[in-house]
Amino acid sequence: MPFHSAPLIQRLMLDDLPAGRHPFRFDVLPNGLGQSWQVPVLVYRGARPGPRVMITAGVHGDELNGVLTAQQLGRELDPEQLAGTVILVPGLNPSGMLARHRDFFPGDPDCSSVNFNRIFPGRAEGNSAERYLHRVWTQLLEGNADYALDLHTQTRGARYPLFVFADYRIPQALAMARALGPDAIQDDPGEPGVLETVWNQQGVPCITIEVGGGSVAEPHTVQRAVAGLHRVLAHLGMTDARATPKGCEPVSVPMEGDVTTTVRAELGGMALPQVALGQPVKEGDLVAIQYDAFGAEARRYYAPVAGWVLSLNDDPLREPGTLLVRLLHHK
Ligand SMILES: [Zn+2]
Repeated sequence: MPFHSAPLIQRLMLDDLPAGRHPFRFDVLPNGLGQSWQVPVLVYRGARPGPRVMITAGVHGDELNGVLTAQQLGRELDPEQLAGTVILVPGLNPSGMLARHRDFFPGDPDCSSVNFNRIFPGRAEGNSAERYLHRVWTQLLEGNADYALDLHTQTRGARYPLFVFADYRIPQALAMARALGPDAIQDDPGEPGVLETVWNQQGVPCITIEVGGGSVAEPHTVQRAVAGLHRVLAHLGMTDARATPKGCEPVSVPMEGDVTTTVRAELGGMALPQVALGQPVKEGDLVAIQYDAFGAEARRYYAPVAGWVLSLNDDPLREPGTLLVRLLHHK
């Protein structure tokens, strides 16, 4: 069924649905033209009972590897083989997607663009961004999940490997993170306004999954993320692990840490990383070199601590304060 002919819903009511695959358009909020922002929703209602798993992507509009991951998982899921329900929301912020930007863009000239992942669960009487998320939270997400996974990427201009934020105080969140088989996991208690944090506060274990870099398609990382999501569903008892599509074996021992240290540009100019993602570095190792407008070497950057290279810039143009290299390590 094409997107434009899928049923338009104001609220997701899982209990009414029979077993099978159900595509919907969730009608979020009208924009200034009176046309509505519509979000794709795919429900896979299993033939057998089991938990409800909510997988969101595109909260940040330019983090397209997360969207690709959710869409590919949707192409591979078979409700006949499923115990429980998987809900996919592969594109939660169409405003940002169209603008090739992480933010939501209100039509109100009095409002700046908004990072959705700092204002969950929104506000009924707020500005358009807050109202949008209030509709998403109360009518689409809340009450419809026992577990949640939110797909992102690193911010545009930089890259992560396959990397998971998990609150280690929540055993089911940590178990999902390890079942996914990522390159790295950070123990992170969350912060206010982040979707993962809101789910966890509601008693729904949630992890945030970073699928590579922003705005660029990374098919191999997407493939690994999809394989990891299949492993999470098997871990939750929703699919038969033996039926999980082959390929993309999990990383046997992911790098785990509870703190990151970011080396940031001190000057303006082109900067080139001198390390690779996943590389272990010692304190004092060279990690990046920055060049001035003539191309002359202007600054060398060294690791302030020992750690594991979690993120790098792939957009070379860096101004003071911009990320060059992020290291994952222990406190
Ligand atoms: Zn993001």
